Amino acid sequence: MPDEVPFTADRVADLMEVLRTPEHQAGLEETTFTVVSVADRAAGLIRVSGTISGTHSLQDWAGPNIAVRLSLPERSSEFAGIDGAPDTTARVYTVADVDIESRTVAIDIVRHGESSPAMKWLGRVRSGDVVPVAGPRPHRVPGSGSPRILLADSSALPAAVRILTRLPIEAPTVLVAAAPLDEIDLVEGDLGDRRDFVTVQRAEPGVDRPLATTFAGMEVPAGASVWAAGEREDVREVRRRCRDDLVLAAEGIQVFGYWKRGISNTRIDVARLEAARSSMEAGRGVFATDDLDIEI
Ligand SMILES: Cc1cc2nc3c(=O)[nH]c(=O)nc-3n(C[C@H](O)[C@H](O)[C@H](O)COP(=O)(O)OP(=O)(O)OC[C@H]3O[C@@H](n4cnc5c(N)ncnc54)[C@H](O)[C@@H]3O)c2cc1C
Repeated sequence: MPDEVPFTADRVADLMEVLRTPEHQAGLEETTFTVVSVADRAAGLIRVSGTISGTHSLQDWAGPNIAVRLSLPERSSEFAGIDGAPDTTARVYTVADVDIESRTVAIDIVRHGESSPAMKWLGRVRSGDVVPVAGPRPHRVPGSGSPRILLADSSALPAAVRILTRLPIEAPTVLVAAAPLDEIDLVEGDLGDRRDFVTVQRAEPGVDRPLATTFAGMEVPAGASVWAAGEREDVREVRRRCRDDLVLAAEGIQVFGYWKRGISNTRIDVARLEAARSSMEAGRGVFATDDLDIEI
């Protein structure tokens, strides 16, 4: 397990090399995000809006599921005392909204109960603060199939809403949301005129793997398309059912872990970089290993 291997200056420097490979950098712009407002959207969801530096068009930032990587001004506890380790912490968020003309981008951040780099930053971020941002990185969208089932926890609802409002709705569509009621109300509002074409269903609250638990009780036809994002072990179980029990077509299964309970994203990133390096050493692409198959 990666978290049992101690971090050292050499190991960190070695992994940083992977980040600089052309394949990893492809399509990424290094810009800055200057915060213009911080506002509660729901009890546990904060919208941070900011402007993106430069004069390049932000057209690509307005796609259906675009993620960006913020370099937050907090050192990850894993790297304390290690020479050469980054003194910022990278965290990935979905572009929840973009105004191309004013170059304003909004991200919706879940306020979770752990003490973490993003939560420390969220506690003190103010209008005028500037953070480096890398993006836009297009993320997974549903594959073809009918019906379309999207499953998302609070961290992935911004992505689900962008998908549902940016892509055509060509099949009966269900959104299963593992989120508090106030966030589900927000989603219904954010869907706008798409609301009439999407069945929004709340995942069973208070259970260990809410998305997988609700999904297990759903009838899923052979031609379905399933998109799921959220807690890694929860969505991994969704993927297992799609592959092993339902035997859906690979293209119709689009599942990605956004965070993992009890493990910081810094450790997840280190595991990803190690998988990328092994893959490159084996002569395959940087992203050849399916993220959910990486041992974390
Ligand atoms: C493509 C992509 C898009 C994403 N989009 C968004 C988004 O739009 N909004 C958003 O809020 N998140 C989003 N995330 C998830 C976000 O990057 C992680 O939640 C990240 O770990 C938060 O960093 P942190 O510093 O708060 O916590 P970390 O330092 O990574 O983790 C510290 C502890 O907090 C726990 N933790 C982390 N995130 C959560 C959570 N969401 N709920 C409960 N506990 C948690 C961890 O399990 C760990 O125990 C996205 C992730 C990906 C990969």
